[in-house]
Amino acid sequence: MILHIEKSIDAGKLQKLADKYEAIILKTEDRFILITPSALKITEEADKELIHESFVFDTDIQLASRKYLKEKRSIKIGENSIGGQFRNVLMAIGPCSVESEEQITQAAEYIKKAGLRTLRAGCFKPRTSPYTFQGMGIDGLKLLDKIRQQYGFTIITEVRDSSHVEDVIAYADIIQIGAKSMYDHGILRKCAKTTKPVLLKRGFGTTLQEFVQAAEFILSGGNPNVILCERGIRTFETKTRFTLDLCGVAYLKENTNLPIILDPSHAMGYAYGVPDLARACMAMDIEGLLIEVHPNPKVALSDASQQLNHEQFSQLFDTLKPIAQAVNRTII
Ligand code: PEP
Ligand code: MN
Repeated sequence: MILHIEKSIDAGKLQKLADKYEAIILKTEDRFILITPSALKITEEADKELIHESFVFDTDIQLASRKYLKEKRSIKIGENSIGGQFRNVLMAIGPCSVESEEQITQAAEYIKKAGLRTLRAGCFKPRTSPYTFQGMGIDGLKLLDKIRQQYGFTIITEVRDSSHVEDVIAYADIIQIGAKSMYDHGILRKCAKTTKPVLLKRGFGTTLQEFVQAAEFILSGGNPNVILCERGIRTFETKTRFTLDLCGVAYLKENTNLPIILDPSHAMGYAYGVPDLARACMAMDIEGLLIEVHPNPKVALSDASQQLNHEQFSQLFDTLKPIAQAVNRTII
């Protein structure tokens, strides 16, 4: 259950109530919110005078549920916002990894030329082999910071493990939690303590329930700014890298109040399929797209096969614009 409690409640009474119902206490500007396990369906009669409003749920998808907030949460991204009443769709593009100052500057120049303002690039890469490029680490974050200052972009960059989570939180405008880190409670809990937006990627072996419950860790810890990212799940199919779960996206849209960004690049794994998938994603009427774009994908140090070059992205971008219009969204 979620219980809304007036701000004026006595601290001792609040704690007693939380203890009795095994609830997490969330303090917001307007009220205290107690979040109990969803198995609780009713509170004691005597407590009702302390409870201003209550919500009952079938599962532990609670703060993220549409049953709790009917309207999608809105999240401020730079000067714009996504979700809520805003009909914006965020176009977050950039290379898989920051590789050098020259490479990331070329990427930034292209983004500026395309009329966009968001750069995504990773510095701590969660690679599947220890013998491949692991990312530039803190030096990469410093390069992204330089780009932010020079271009005024919003920077999305990922946290891989808890050893550098504070650095990423300090440098990123949007903190990306990668698919392989989605279950890392050290990361989830630290990202709950900031109010910077978090882009939470779905683990590739994760059910929708588990995915949204990971978001609940961040929400219930105090950060309301969570964006869900579907990036492909593992199925029996091996011809493509992963399988983009658009049915799952329909479920998330219907049942959760969180903005959604789709990542066709990691799902497909091959550049040839990314444009068609990106158009399908845009048609899903969601809050953003994340597409890997590299100045020269052939020499990319990670995810080379799936990145579009600038010309390929320009062609795709032209075809995404009418689809955005058809679903009544403005590309930001
Ligand atoms: C990435 O965005 O470059 C990345 C590593 O993504 P994922 O965590 O979805 O594999
Ligand atoms: Mn990548």
